[in-house]
Amino acid sequence: MTKKETILKIKEVFDKVYSDAKCSLDFSTPHELLVAVQLSAQCTDARVNIVTKELFKKYTSVYDFAQANEEELCAIIKPCGFFRTKGKNIIASSKKIISDFGGNVPNNMEDLLSLAGVGRKTANLILGDVYGIPGLVIDTHAIRLTNRIGLVNEKDPVKIEFALKKIVPSDYQTRFCHQLVYHGRAICNAAKPVCTSCPISHLCKKKNVKKFI
Ligand code: SF4
Repeated sequence: MTKKETILKIKEVFDKVYSDAKCSLDFSTPHELLVAVQLSAQCTDARVNIVTKELFKKYTSVYDFAQANEEELCAIIKPCGFFRTKGKNIIASSKKIISDFGGNVPNNMEDLLSLAGVGRKTANLILGDVYGIPGLVIDTHAIRLTNRIGLVNEKDPVKIEFALKKIVPSDYQTRFCHQLVYHGRAICNAAKPVCTSCPISHLCKKKNVKKFI
């Protein structure tokens, strides 16, 4: 079976098992999603959602974030870790969104990457979830699972993104990455994947191997 065929088989299974897969960060505007993703680096989505509940009450627009007092902002986001860098990036990127993009979160990769604290993973998430533009979000789940399944043999997220681009249908890319997160949390977790309960074990190269990456 080719990798493209494997992906289509996985899609059949995942669309049944994880039919409701979506971003697990809470947000109500594109900019709130951007802030939440910036906070999610090295932090769980559940913790980010607790923090943003308070944060988005105090700062209700990109303009509020651009004018935020850095110390006050950092005090709220502290539980997310790396709060000084994240605070600086959130304020700087908000200012740039206002000065260069009319207050709107950009809808293309190049402009998104020009924002402080935004890498390809964040940009692809924004493109897919906000603008419906195909994108592959290569986070720790995607790195781990695509290697285990045998779709790639590579740890570098950018190389994985471009390798997957060739084999994942464009209209499935955003959904596929959300489904990988669900599968990574529920079955194929980092320390102890439950291969015996895995609905795609027949498609996986690393099924039941002793040593996992
Ligand atoms: S068979 Fe095991 S290693 Fe492969 S995807 Fe399923 S849980 Fe992960």
